[in-house]
Amino acid sequence: MSESAPIRVLPQALVARIAAGEVITRPRAVVKELIDNAIDAGATDIVVDSQWGGFQQIDVHDNGSGIRAADTPLALTRHATSKLASLADLPSIATLGFRGEALASIAAVADIEIRTQAHSETVGTKLTSVDGVEACVPSVRRQGTSVTVRRLFDAFPVRREIADRKAESRAIRTLIAQLALSRPDIAFSLDSEGRRLVSTGGGSLRKAFAEINGVDALPFLLDLGPLELRDARVSGIISAPTATAHRSRRDGIVLSVNGRLCGVADIQRAIERAYAEVLPRNRFPHVVLAIAVPPERVDVNIHPAKEQVALLDGKELAERLEAEIRALLGRTAHLIAERHSLALEVGSLPGLRAAEAGTPYGAGEWGARTVEPGSLPRLRVVGHIDDTLIVCESDVGTLLIDQHRAHERVIYERLLEHESVDLPVPVVLALPRSILTMLDTKADDLRGTGWDWEDIGANQLFVRACPTGLAPDDLLPIAERFTSESSHTILAATACHAAIRKRRPLSPDAAVELLEALTRTATPTTCPHGQPIAVNLDRAFLERQFGWR
Ligand code: ADP
Ligand code: MG
Repeated sequence: MSESAPIRVLPQALVARIAAGEVITRPRAVVKELIDNAIDAGATDIVVDSQWGGFQQIDVHDNGSGIRAADTPLALTRHATSKLASLADLPSIATLGFRGEALASIAAVADIEIRTQAHSETVGTKLTSVDGVEACVPSVRRQGTSVTVRRLFDAFPVRREIADRKAESRAIRTLIAQLALSRPDIAFSLDSEGRRLVSTGGGSLRKAFAEINGVDALPFLLDLGPLELRDARVSGIISAPTATAHRSRRDGIVLSVNGRLCGVADIQRAIERAYAEVLPRNRFPHVVLAIAVPPERVDVNIHPAKEQVALLDGKELAERLEAEIRALLGRTAHLIAERHSLALEVGSLPGLRAAEAGTPYGAGEWGARTVEPGSLPRLRVVGHIDDTLIVCESDVGTLLIDQHRAHERVIYERLLEHESVDLPVPVVLALPRSILTMLDTKADDLRGTGWDWEDIGANQLFVRACPTGLAPDDLLPIAERFTSESSHTILAATACHAAIRKRRPLSPDAAVELLEALTRTATPTTCPHGQPIAVNLDRAFLERQFGWR
């Protein structure tokens, strides 16, 4: 065995480079830090240019306060900051930066040039660091700061080797789009290889949203809040669950806390839960929320790049938000008129038995029957196509309504209310052991939907209660449909199982009853799996199709 090397204290420059490599992990991190500085300097116009995914060159120009000539030489010094003076300030940080580390870290892994001029001064400064050698000379420009970063990671050959320029370009574009949404009052632009990728002019949130995502999604944005919980306040916009307004990535969910773009895990999860039943699997909404809380209720130090924060009372706030989003989505899916409840009783619709046995849901004459408006507009029920689609006229257009999905939605919401019937005599069910084990792990969720049973051994169950509209032996097919862990999935599977199938005859009476029940649901336009229930052949659609205009 060779003798071990002696322990040595590393030279300062090497320490700095190692530490910097952890803060500045990629070009996106450089862009983020430079924009944070511009925002802290009060800029209202921020222009970014990135070449070759930012590996070759990054420029950030701002019209903020600038740095006074006397202070400039300190800008690249580690732990030199104008934002935090003492330990007492730490709990109430209002700026994005405060550690005085970003510029020093960038200078340790790249060449950097800062041109800046403070508004009170007639001459500015140019500070450069090339290969770690600093120089500072007077230079004149208008008020503000421009930072240029070149030769990023030249000293980290592996990092350059694995550099994915396209992925980095995308990440920078996403970052700037998100920053522009979190600070719609600031004008942002991003150019890359001579192309303008993002451009906002500063103004309202909806205006910034349209500048980034196009105007098509605008009609599907709902205003949320302001929602208040003690001294926290949340407001923003969320997308309605229409086919056009959701995306395959989570990057449409943009949260900011006191103006800082960041993730808040509790809130992120609450948003996804609220949308789970109205969007298809693995689709995500547009949600832009600004959260304002007293600075001392935020911990920004849980993540080195400050991109995740934790909130005191975050769980409670998340719950309130989830309920609020559910309510908003329910009230205002795209077809919706005002919601008011009707006194009609549902329940006589033949349930599962008829669906399974193939019994027709009745016959009769189709005519102009109407369904009073609830969460859907007033409907004139005119016909039935393919034993699957109910055709209705309404003030907003001709609706084709999928009977299976409509019924699913009705049953699903009924299950949410935990309506169940106690069986006069418990029913004995014999089930395979694998299913019993499954039932055991899902017992709480199933009991929550109205089931109650007792395991009496020998692979048998005593079923004591079941959800309204279902029969005891529905427990087996429902258990067989479990695909994932969530109670939402169990409810959705139950509803799907119990709902009328496609290609089943339906009487006009049954159709009207189904639609009356549907219009009393909170979310009448999407089934629990997030698929559309109704398609609207509206006037604009028909005009396009027929070329009437
Ligand atoms: P921090 O932002 O944590 O203070 P930085 O290393 O990012 O640390 O910046 C160091 C200092 O340089 C800041 O505190 C600020 O005074 C000054 N500075 C950096 N960028 C700008 C800018 N764009 N406009 C005005 N001042 C800036
Ligand atoms: Mg900073």
